Order: sequence, then C-alpha cells, then structure tokens
Amino acid sequence: MQTDVIVIGSGHAGCEAALATARLGLKTLIITINLDSIAMMPCNPNIGGTSKGHLVREIDALGGEMGKNIDKTFIQIKMLNKSKGAAIQSLRAQADKYKYSLEMKKVIENTNNLKFKQGEVKDLLIKNKKICGVILCNNIVINSETVIICTGTYLDSCCLVGEYITNSGPNGLKKSDLLGESLRKLNIKTRRFKTGTSARIDKRSIDYYKIKKQDEDKDILNFSFENQNLNLSRKQISCYLTYTNEKTHKIIKKNIDKSPIYSGLIKSIGARYCPSIEDKVVRFPDKSQHQVFIEPESEDSNEVYVSGMSTSLPEEIQIKFYRTVLGLENCEFTRAGYAIEYDCIDSTQLKLNLEFKNISGLFSAGQINGTSGYEEAAAQGIIAGINAFCYIKNKDNFIISRNEGYIGVLIDDLVTKGIDEPYRMLTSRAEYRLLLRQDNADLRLTERGYKIGLISKKRYRDFLNKKNTIEREILRVKKFLVKDLNLANEILIKNNSNILSHEIFLSDLIKRPELNYDKIKKLDLDRKNNQRVVDDQININIKYEGYIKKQLEQIDKIKNLEDKKIPIDLDYLKIYGLRIEAAQKLNKIRPENIGQALRINGVSHSDISVLIIYMRKNKN
Ligand SMILES: Cc1cc2nc3c(=O)[nH]c(=O)nc-3n(C[C@H](O)[C@H](O)[C@H](O)COP(=O)(O)OP(=O)(O)OC[C@H]3O[C@@H](n4cnc5c(N)ncnc54)[C@H](O)[C@@H]3O)c2cc1C
Repeated sequence: MQTDVIVIGSGHAGCEAALATARLGLKTLIITINLDSIAMMPCNPNIGGTSKGHLVREIDALGGEMGKNIDKTFIQIKMLNKSKGAAIQSLRAQADKYKYSLEMKKVIENTNNLKFKQGEVKDLLIKNKKICGVILCNNIVINSETVIICTGTYLDSCCLVGEYITNSGPNGLKKSDLLGESLRKLNIKTRRFKTGTSARIDKRSIDYYKIKKQDEDKDILNFSFENQNLNLSRKQISCYLTYTNEKTHKIIKKNIDKSPIYSGLIKSIGARYCPSIEDKVVRFPDKSQHQVFIEPESEDSNEVYVSGMSTSLPEEIQIKFYRTVLGLENCEFTRAGYAIEYDCIDSTQLKLNLEFKNISGLFSAGQINGTSGYEEAAAQGIIAGINAFCYIKNKDNFIISRNEGYIGVLIDDLVTKGIDEPYRMLTSRAEYRLLLRQDNADLRLTERGYKIGLISKKRYRDFLNKKNTIEREILRVKKFLVKDLNLANEILIKNNSNILSHEIFLSDLIKRPELNYDKIKKLDLDRKNNQRVVDDQININIKYEGYIKKQLEQIDKIKNLEDKKIPIDLDYLKIYGLRIEAAQKLNKIRPENIGQALRINGVSHSDISVLIIYMRKNKN
C-alpha cells in the first residue's frame, strides 16, 4: 500500500496533523491502536484556560479543528481572568468527553483524502536517512513519503496505583509495545516522563449542598472564529468548589511511602505544573487546604472528575482521603486515580518544522515531544501536518515565530532550549504576551492559514472584512472628539472618573485606568458597528497602545537576527574563538538562524558575535 502521509496515532496531535495534510490535498492515512479512542481525554476533559485557550484560538486561526470541536461539545464555558489584563484573559470550557471524541471521529471519517485504520505500528522504514513507510505489528508494510509520529502517552507505558502496575496505555487501553525500541535503534534518544490523573466518582454520591457552585458565563463566547456571530448558548452543567483539609493531608502524609512517586517505584519525571495531591501536600506543608473542583465529564454520564486530587496512592488510601473532603464524605469511586509512565523523545532532536534532524520526512508531534496537554499536542499536530505538506511539495518550512504566536513559543522552547520535565504552556513563557492575546489570534495567523491553503475563501473574506472594520474603527475612534461635556461628565461621575472642563479625544478617556470603551461608547456618536469583537479590539489597541508599541519595537530590534540564516551544516567546533561548550551546544541544536542560536542555553552574546564575524568572513 502507498500513501503520501502516515499519521501514527489519533490523539489530539494526530487528528490535527492528519486533517491538515488531507485538507491540503495529500493522501493521508491515520493508523491508531484503537479507533474508539479518537481524540480521547484521559485526564480532565477541559479545553483552554490560561495560555491553553490562546493555543486553541491560534490552531483555529490557522484552520485547525480543536476550536470548532469544543464549540460543538462544551457543557460548561467561562472566560478566565476577566478582571485582569487582556494578555491573560482566556476561554476555558468543560467538554462532554464522549461527544468531543465522537464529533472529531465524524470529522475524520468525512474528510476527503483521509483514510483511517486500526493497527499498531512497530517499526519505521528508512532508506538513505529518509522515511519511506511503516511496518505494523501484523507485518503489513505501508509506504509513504512522510510519517508523523503522534503516539502520546502510549510508548511502553504503564499505569500505577500504589504497587498495582498494569502494562497498558491510559484507561486500560493497549500500550504501544515495540515502536519505542525501533526509535532507539534509529539513534533517536528517548526519555521517561510521567503524568497522572484523579479518581472519578459517581455524582449521586456527592453532597452538593455542602460545596460551592461555580458560575459559568451566561454570555457565551466561542473558541472558533468561524462561530463568532453564532449563538452557542445551551444548558450548562456547573462545576463545584470544595477543599482538602488537615485530615486529608494527614492520611496522605501517613501513607506517602505507599505512593509510587515517593517509594521510588516511579523514577520518571512528572509535570511541575500539574502536581499530584501527594506532591502538593509534600511541597506545601504549611498550606492547610488545597482547592478541589468537581467537574462534569459528560451530560450522559454520572461520572465526575475531581480536579486537584490527581493521585497514584493505593485505591483504599485514595478512598480514605477523598472521603475527608467536604461534600465527598460518602463518595463512591467509579475509577481510581493513577499515574502513567511513558517514553517520549528528546525534542532537541527536531528542527523548528518538527522534522527529525537525522531522518528527513519523519515528523513528531504531541506528548511524544515531551509536552503535556491536549492543546499543546494539537498545536504541534497542525504544524507538523503543514510541514509534511511543505516537505512533499518542496515549499519553505512553515514556522511560527515567538512574536507571532504561542505555538511559536511552544515549538521554539522544545527544539531550541530543550525541556527537563513535561512542558505545559504558560503565559509567562511568552515574552510578547501582550501582542499574543487570545482575542487577536486570527489577526496574527489567519493570513498564513489562508496562504498555505487551510482557510477557505469565504472565511478569508469574512476575516478581511473584520480586520478592515477594526482598523477603520480604531483610526476613527482615535480622531473622535468628545464635545457633549454634559453627557460625558454624567458617565464619568458614574465611573468615578475625573470630570471634563473641555473637549477631549475619546481615546484619551479609554486610556484612563477606571474606564474602557464599553463604559463610554455612548459618547461615540459616529459609532456604526456593534460587533463585540470589534469593540474589544478598539478598547485593547487604544488602552494598551503604549505597551503594544514598545513590544513591536523590541520585535523590530531582533527581527534582523531572526532573519539571519545560518548554514545547517556548519561545524561549530572549527570556528576559532568560539567556546567549546557553546560550539558543542550549537552542533547539537543546529540553529536555523542567529535569533534561535541566541536562545540556546549556554550560548552567550559574545559567542554569537564570534559566529557572526565568522559567517561574514566566510560569506555565509
Ligand atoms: C493519565 C493521564 C493524565 C493526564 N493528565 C494531564 C494533565 O493533568 N494535564 C494535561 O495537560 N494533560 C494531561 N494528560 C495529557 C493529555 O492527555 C495529553 O497531553 C494528550 O492526550 C496528548 O495528546 P497526543 O495527541 O500527543 O497523544 P494521545 O492523546 O495520548 O494519543 C496518542 C495516540 O497514539 C496512538 N498510538 C500510540 N502508539 C501507537 C502505535 N505504535 N501505533 C498506532 N497508534 C499508536 C494511540 O492509540 C492514541 O490514539 C494526561 C494524560 C494521561 C494519560
């Protein structure tokens, strides 16, 4: 059998990668261990949240599927950090995890050029350092021009609940037995990471009167820019808040030696930002309580997720300390919490297009690259898919830079800086976060999605209309002079803002900390549009004008460094004056431009000066 692209795995990375290559016209085949686990959510079925919501919007702006899929299947949605700055506001939704998987399966099954097959890949076919297909465990050979590995948490995985170990993937699904070893035979370095999840309990055993209901948003926003003008409102299922207490912590401390994390049974590295409850109790001994969120998993299931209580202690211990939590005194477990260990690769073996440096045409995306999270996986999936297309069509690599998107920050951190633990996206990782907001992801990336061929003509036209309206409106509001001082002062007094004694530009009022465009738009007598998304852009671009300008200047300053390409086959050890440590690091990472070289840990500015002088002398 022959195809253009093989995608190994139908998780969050695999789905985005396969949809991208198929929609770009390539014959694509997804091979996955279990076709009933497409886009499965083995952990908390939530999409988005701080920085992760930004990734979902960026995937959508490029023409990906995750945003549309969660808009169809959310059972609870909320804009986080509403009272904070625009840079960290982020949409978060609880998905109906069964509907989410089913809807994604429907899309996969009905996409042209896309075939799907249940099977397990055990080996890769390589000729002259070039990928040319895969071998399945039943020895079927399938040839292809590119392969994208998206095997998530399944490579040689095992699940642990105390000393009870099962050699399986998540939720008892079959693990991937042989592919890990095949990768190592190809000199691909692997490492062992771990993650974990909480128990699931029967909601009929929870005393909801004792715990605090969390309000969801009534005014529903959308993840996908395609749904901007659609009313997505529906009945929502609430989340609830409760807390651990001293009794909970006492049981955990007393049994900490039975936790595979602390008994040494687990030697792999876990995610600092997704700590188990054991980690929290040990790391923060002075904290008398930790938040616990009771979150729905599906409108058609009584199982609920207990967020903040991820654990791998023996089940009988889990039940004991869960029942010390207010509202959970009589909770009935449907599934115990567990930890999962799995193989992943050292991501510095990849180029910025997510292709392996030592095997051309072989790409990798998702948790296998050392990240943690559905959104991080999906973001890598769409980029790997687009670059498999560029590889086959001999086009320039499709790279998102750090000043264009969180996707750019994510991939650059993985391949340039390297990671020592499961990587979770955070707003603090993005130095240009004021520009990389979730509200303007389309303004930053849709043009690129359209040019590569993933955004339809109709969507592009709608996007241009919106973009032109925003630009026109910002210019108009900046020039609008407020003359009706009576009306103005009425509004200013209501908002505890200094009253006016003379005419003023509307934009100057917007810049006042206690005001925003929403509060004073009555003064904008020339206002014609009433699209919320346009109002938001008027407010943000005028209010943060100074900061945005400063970040744009910073980007300009380093732009020429980012554009300065470095020959990929340079032998840095031969460059006179370059420190050994730097030369070794540069030989390992093989940066594609000076900007990337500058971000490699252990490479200094003076090393870069030596490199630039060397390149100038050798006309590189
Ligand atoms: C127990 C658990 C807890 C988690 N907790 C968190 C958390 O707290 N926070 C968080 O952000 N994320 C968490 N995650 C991670 C989250 O689930 C993943 O980030 C996400 O699913 C990764 O997506 P992916 O596409 O890379 O891989 P996956 O969703 O794991 O999908 C991998 C796919 O590859 C297929 N596959 C694997 N090997 C082969 C093979 N050889 N041949 C064919 N098919 C193959 C599998 O069948 C599957 O379809 C957790 C995951 C687990 C399992």
